[in-house]
This record gives sequence, structure tokens and C-alpha cells, in this order.
Amino acid sequence: MGSAGRVYYGRAEDGQLESPFSGNLVDICPTGVFTDKTARFRARYWDYDISPSICPHCSLGCNTLPAARYRELLKVMARRNDTINGWFICDRGRFSKASVNDQDRPRDPLVNGRRVGWDEAVDQLAARIKEIGKLYGRETLAIVGSSRLSMEAASLLHVLQGATGAGSLCYFVSEEEAVRTAAAISHLNEGTSASMADVQAAGLIAIVDCDLLQDGPMMALAVRQAWRKGARIFLVEEAAEEPQNLPFAWESVPSLADIPLQGAKRKVLVCGTGERAAGLVSQALANGAKLACLLDGPNSFGTALLAGDHESTPFARAVAEGKVKGLIAVETDIPPELLEGIPFIAALDWRNTDTVRAAHFVLPTTAWLEMDGTYINNEGRAQRFKKVMNAGLPIAGMNPATLHPPRQHIATAPGGDVRPAWKVVSDIVKRLGTKGAEPLSGKWERLREMDAEGNGLMVFPRVNDSGNDKEKGNGLQ
Ligand code: SF4
Repeated sequence: MGSAGRVYYGRAEDGQLESPFSGNLVDICPTGVFTDKTARFRARYWDYDISPSICPHCSLGCNTLPAARYRELLKVMARRNDTINGWFICDRGRFSKASVNDQDRPRDPLVNGRRVGWDEAVDQLAARIKEIGKLYGRETLAIVGSSRLSMEAASLLHVLQGATGAGSLCYFVSEEEAVRTAAAISHLNEGTSASMADVQAAGLIAIVDCDLLQDGPMMALAVRQAWRKGARIFLVEEAAEEPQNLPFAWESVPSLADIPLQGAKRKVLVCGTGERAAGLVSQALANGAKLACLLDGPNSFGTALLAGDHESTPFARAVAEGKVKGLIAVETDIPPELLEGIPFIAALDWRNTDTVRAAHFVLPTTAWLEMDGTYINNEGRAQRFKKVMNAGLPIAGMNPATLHPPRQHIATAPGGDVRPAWKVVSDIVKRLGTKGAEPLSGKWERLREMDAEGNGLMVFPRVNDSGNDKEKGNGLQ
């Protein structure tokens, strides 16, 4: 090419590079100058277990390619999706590997701290559920899920409620989170929901009630792209607020009324779900703006849809009303003060949470990259993620005394006898004498057909104003 001596790869300035997106340099570096220090020289590309996945670290649903070897997640790369994250991901999505690689994750079923086999654990759990029913009444049981759950597991919680006779079905712990998430998604439909591609192409963006780099870092990058193309950016904030360190220039205004929404083209309101945003959403929609709402977890949208479909109660309210004597928590972080005095706690989880530590029954589940599953992101886009690696203790960090012969020749890897949450829920349901249930059945069945490398399927709580969601194949009514 004749470029020798004329092309320079490197930084324009000296000093430490500090950016919440710094890891993208590794993906795009053409010479190998920038490498992922957390994973370099650990494997060659053809050694990796690798599959299309979705980032679980916020609600935006960026597309990723996690790469694992010997049951250890080594690196996470961006997977191109022009509607969502483009070619990039943020550093949280790229480098948050500790919890999944944790040697001390729940790996075996436990009953009162004693390690038991799966059959015994599920038998004893079913017996205890019946016992609690006799002692306090089955309506004192609560089934609790969270936005960490895949749609496969979350959509089975009401089946577990039916089988146990539980009086409370909870998709959220806090009342406030339940109310504000439901309110946020109720505004979204095919015409109002903004993807990150819409944000990048916007001519005017109003930001309210969110800390972009905390609540959805890639949204900050999308706003930056729009700003670089000439969009006007407004931050609706009170004068006393801490200045935000955002990667674009903005104009600070005290209210939405101070933004020239009416004459602008391609306008988007980027917002959290707090009170201030809730008050401005209708005003923005009336002025023809689209909405990009930042929610709390990777499947907040899905759990809010399910909470609306079934008669559900936030767990904190059920506890405050003195209704809870037994609890089955499925991949849910519950503050210790809400667990006090509950005589029966079962936790299905792959993380060591306060709920797991307080539980009488622990049933270990697979992490997202050890199974296939579905999340619905903040815009209402259902996306499939595929199993990347087998579950089990990562070989790195294992005790050499147990790693080397004499070995046990067993079918599962050490620490690998864990199950997807939906499977554990289904097993409990069957053990209680009810017909087991398939994940994603009924109106969710269409999500099974999704291709993990496709563009997902839009799922909204109601038809849009023109009522044409069904016609276009969107919406699961
Ligand atoms: S913006 Fe959110 S979904 Fe995207 S990579 Fe970062 S943490 Fe993951």
C-alpha cells in the first residue's frame, strides 16, 4: 500500500487512557498493540468455547461474544448489531467476569447446609412446602423472581405458584421498582420505543433522571454519536445537581418546556424511571419524541410484562403485610432485613447472595452463559442468548490436590451438577404432583423460534395507537 512510515497506530496524547469504553481498542486494534490484559496469552482463538450471547449487566441488551476455556470465562468481545450496540460494548460488559468464574459459587444442592443430591433436595423441599402449608396455610408462601431471570424461568413462576398454592407471586422486591418499571414500559410501543440506532440518528436529545454512564453506558456512546453528527443535547437538571462527566457537550435546562421540541426532527427522550422522568414522558410523547427508558436489569422489561399478566405483589409489600412464612427466591437479591423471621427460605441461584446465605434450601442454577435463554431489553426487544460453556469449577484456581489423580471418573465436571433455573422450577412443580411445564409456552411460544444471531422480536405490553402490532407480527397480545 506504500503506507510504511506514514501510518501511526497509537494515541494522540500521552498519559493513562481512562474511558468506560477502553476495551474496544482491543477489538479494533489492527496490530496487536492493545491486548486484553485480563485474558491475553490464556488461549488461542481456536481453543475458545464461543457462542452469541447478550450482556446481562444492564437493561440495554448489547450483543456479545463471550469466549471461555476450561469452564472459565476468559474474555467478552462485542458482537455487531447495528440496531443496538453497533460494533462496541462498554468495559462493564467486557470485564465483569468475577462472579461467573467465582470458585465459591453455589455448586451443590444444600439442605440446612448439608450437601445432598438433587433428588433428595427436591424431595425434601416438596415435603417442607407441604409442611409449611399445614402449619401456616399455603397462602403464606411467596414465590419471588427478579429482572436477573431469563424469560424461560420467569415465565414459569406462576406455574410454581399454582403448584405450591403460594399466596404471593412477586416479580420485584421493591414496590417502587415495580411501579416505576410498569409505568415506563406502558408508554412503549412500535411507534414510541427508541433503539440505540434511533438515538444515534437523533437531531435533538433530552436526557432526564438518569446517570447514563451508570445506568446504561452504551447509551452515553449513542448520544455521543448523535452529538458528533450535530444533534443538540439537553440535560434536564436542577442547578444543585452534581455535574455529570459525559462524553459529549450538552445544554443544561431546568425543565422540558425550555427545550425547543416542537420544531425539532428525530427527537428522543432518554430517561430513567424516576418520578421526574415519569412526569415528563407524556409531554415528550405529545411533542412527537421517542423514548429510550433505562431500566434496572437485563430482563426488567420481561418481568414487568409478566407482573402485569399475573396477579403479582412486590415482595416488600407482602412482608410488610405479615403474609410471608415461606419463600422460594429464584435468582433474586433480597435485603437481609426482609428475610428476618421467615421460617422457611429456599434459594435457587448461581450467585452467593444474602438470600443464598440465609436459605435453608439452596438449589444451584446455571449462569447465563451456561445455558440458552432469552432477555427482553429496555426497548422491548426479546433476544436469544446461547450456551457458551459447560458449567463447572474453572480449572484455573482449582486445588491441585483434587485436580490430579486419583480422580473420580464421573459424567459431570467438578461443580458442574447445576441446572437452569427453569429446569429446577419445573422439577419442583413435578415433585409436587403437578404436570411439569415447558418454558416459553402459551403466548411466549413465538420467542422459541428466535435466532440468536437475528435482530430479536419486539414485544410490547399493548398494541400501538394504530393498533397494527399484530398485523406486523409484533406484540404478544
Ligand atoms: S451498556 Fe449495558 S448491556 Fe451494554 S455492554 Fe455495557 S453493561 Fe452490557
